[in-house]
Amino acid sequence: MTASVAVVGAGPAGSTLAALLAGAGIDTVIFHAARGPKHCGGGIPPRAFDRMPLLRRLAAPRADACRISFFAPGAGAAPSIELPRPISVFDRAAFDRALRGEAEAAGARLVAEGVRRIERRGSSWAIEAGGKAWRAGFLAGADGATGIVRRLLSTPFSAEALSLCAGYYLAPPEPGRISIGFVGGAASYAWLFPGPSAASAGIVAPLAGSRGERLRRRLRAWLEASHPGVRFDWSRPYAALVPTPGLRAGRVGGGGWALAGDAAGLADPATREGIYYSMRSAALLARCIVRSRPAAYPALLRLLLLGWHGQTLLARRLFFTETGVERFVCALRSRPAARRAAGRFIAGPPGCGRFALDFLISSLRAGE
Ligand SMILES: Cc1cc2nc3c(=O)[nH]c(=O)nc-3n(C[C@H](O)[C@H](O)[C@H](O)COP(=O)(O)OP(=O)(O)OC[C@H]3O[C@@H](n4cnc5c(N)ncnc54)[C@H](O)[C@@H]3O)c2cc1C
Repeated sequence: MTASVAVVGAGPAGSTLAALLAGAGIDTVIFHAARGPKHCGGGIPPRAFDRMPLLRRLAAPRADACRISFFAPGAGAAPSIELPRPISVFDRAAFDRALRGEAEAAGARLVAEGVRRIERRGSSWAIEAGGKAWRAGFLAGADGATGIVRRLLSTPFSAEALSLCAGYYLAPPEPGRISIGFVGGAASYAWLFPGPSAASAGIVAPLAGSRGERLRRRLRAWLEASHPGVRFDWSRPYAALVPTPGLRAGRVGGGGWALAGDAAGLADPATREGIYYSMRSAALLARCIVRSRPAAYPALLRLLLLGWHGQTLLARRLFFTETGVERFVCALRSRPAARRAAGRFIAGPPGCGRFALDFLISSLRAGE
């Protein structure tokens, strides 16, 4: 069985890529290993809808959150920020299903089998999935942080390039409001995202030195303190990795192959948000393949990465410290202008630079 392009993995990156390639008339096969649910907060900011038409027309249930509140141990809780545009929270399994449906509707062939072996044979790829052999001219790895394509053709992520997320799925205690708590130490935060059928509560921290159970204990303590009177059901725990190498993503493409999404290590190094970047990298790769210039993809992706994460990495150094987040939450508590600036930034654009400026101006006006 043959195809021009074989896409391994049918998450946001793989399904977006397959939908765009097949939509442009390229013979595409996409392999989907059903490995249980993808653990995720399912939160997608409004700027993603601006840039990805596929996302705008996606028929998947979502719950829009128009308010967000922040908490830091030394500062307490700030009043909720009203967002000028909502953050959409999806049920991740339904979201992935809908995107796979888009890929199939565009004409991609979906093979519901995991890829077991990949081998270079001359100028094409021999791929084995579900006991069957495939041949493809181009290989796209969209199979996540620990996928087979990255392991074969690039370097695995080091512990320093990975973050650990641990949490629970819960009944949403307050629909429409996202909560963020800086309760896990440096470069860490906890979240509560109320989705359409359940809320994802989680806490993320750099993998090195983190233990899932210890993180979950902090998460439980924060949720119980911030929602007095709510009885949480802790029976659905999860833990998962998200790759956050920042600008050091390693090789993301070469002769006849490329990586997209988590396989390429594109999640935001501070928030660890990755769905948008997975879809954007897939859209870029699709454009390069359709224009018969796949070799341009790695350099173009690096340029995009610089724009996406350059400012974030700087902000992470300055802001994601214990005193930095405390100051931020204190400012949100005391200054409506700081809350407005944060709301505009979260609903985005503008980016970090404009936010820092707005924030500084609001503190100068307040005489701080
Ligand atoms: C707990 C947690 C919470 C998160 N919350 C958010 C959030 O709120 N918002 C956000 O934007 N991002 C969030 N992220 C990050 C986001 O989930 C990822 O960045 C995103 O899913 C990456 O998409 P992807 O398509 O690259 O990879 P994935 O979503 O990992 O998809 C890869 C797919 O490939 C399949 N696969 C793997 N190996 C094979 C194989 N050999 N053959 C065939 N298929 C294979 C897998 O089964 C999977 O379906 C979160 C991550 C975690 C861990």
